[in-house]
Amino acid sequence: MAVPCMTKVREVLEVEKLNSQQEKAISSLLKGKDVFLSLRTGINQFKFGLIYSFRGESTEHVQAFREWFSLTGEIRSLISCPALVITATDSKEARKVNKKRLALNNCVDIIDSPDRENIKLFVHKLKNTVPIEVTFGWLLKDLSLKKKDCTRTLIFCSSIKICADVYTAFLMVLDKSVMEYVHMFHSCTSENVKEKIREDMSDENGNIRVLIATSAAGMSVNYRGINNAVHYSPPKDMDSFVQQLGRAGRDGSQSFHLLIYNSRHTRKLELDMKNYIENVDKCRRLQMLESYDSFPNAKVVKHLCCDICLRNCECNDKCCLLYQHPYNLFQSDDDSSDDNSCISNETDLRVMMFLIMKWIQSLNKIFTTLLVSVCYEV
Ligand SMILES: [Zn+2]
Ligand SMILES: [Zn+2]
Repeated sequence: MAVPCMTKVREVLEVEKLNSQQEKAISSLLKGKDVFLSLRTGINQFKFGLIYSFRGESTEHVQAFREWFSLTGEIRSLISCPALVITATDSKEARKVNKKRLALNNCVDIIDSPDRENIKLFVHKLKNTVPIEVTFGWLLKDLSLKKKDCTRTLIFCSSIKICADVYTAFLMVLDKSVMEYVHMFHSCTSENVKEKIREDMSDENGNIRVLIATSAAGMSVNYRGINNAVHYSPPKDMDSFVQQLGRAGRDGSQSFHLLIYNSRHTRKLELDMKNYIENVDKCRRLQMLESYDSFPNAKVVKHLCCDICLRNCECNDKCCLLYQHPYNLFQSDDDSSDDNSCISNETDLRVMMFLIMKWIQSLNKIFTTLLVSVCYEV
């Protein structure tokens, strides 16, 4: 009996195929049960009409959507029918809250692991005094040299203020002609600029090579060709973190995610996000997936998993050290350089001069003049 029933469902939903999780959700719903479906974006492709859109006035502290969404349980108490709740990512804590809010009782949970196995995870804590230009020295250099061929990079920031600070740092270092490859996206960006960014980012060969954004760009942009995602300051909760880092590697190719933060960025974090950034010895993927009662695939190669697993990798394969983050490579280049090193590239020189100036200024504002000797390679 199940087969003809699903055939009809596929016809109504206008889809050729349903995966096993989608079939389970539909058949549970047809049996009159509430269903909580948490699947990664990309396989959550049900086609339903919008029955109700949450609109209305926001209060001083709560946005309109959250204000009215919080009252959904009351509507459910008036109408007796099974509910299908679909979400992309919900940690076990958020799931508990949402089930209560939506008055779901004895519902069927269908939860997919939010893991992105093709994204290698890195975390680095900075001192508060490290200037943004120094932190992003690797990317500034890459962008200056390669311009349109620079690896497309998405930088998430936890506030508009931090987003603007990062953009300003790029503006100060880069040539005007290079800044055309750098854009900023947040809730106050004008609608026509947002639309241009959306259009550009949906083309993997688009002009934008570095997008500096807040969570406003997390869900509303179709990202193509991104193999490098960075968080400069962590988001408040793990769900936002997982959704945002998942913007990288959409084509399945090996990608990187780097979280960089300093102690000023760690206020008001939820516990699982705090645990993630403070972890120093546990696999980062394992730590992240604990929030979802999920585990990493045992087949993930250690040196492709995270920076902590890389330290413990004993594969003795040539590839073991190949997948370093450009941030780490840039830092080690910097560490190994000495006072007599020669700078052969004009762009390198410009970036380095600026970085040195900023360093000295941040260390001691009394310095007003600076003499830098540079040895040119002939
Ligand atoms: Zn790991
Ligand atoms: Zn290895």
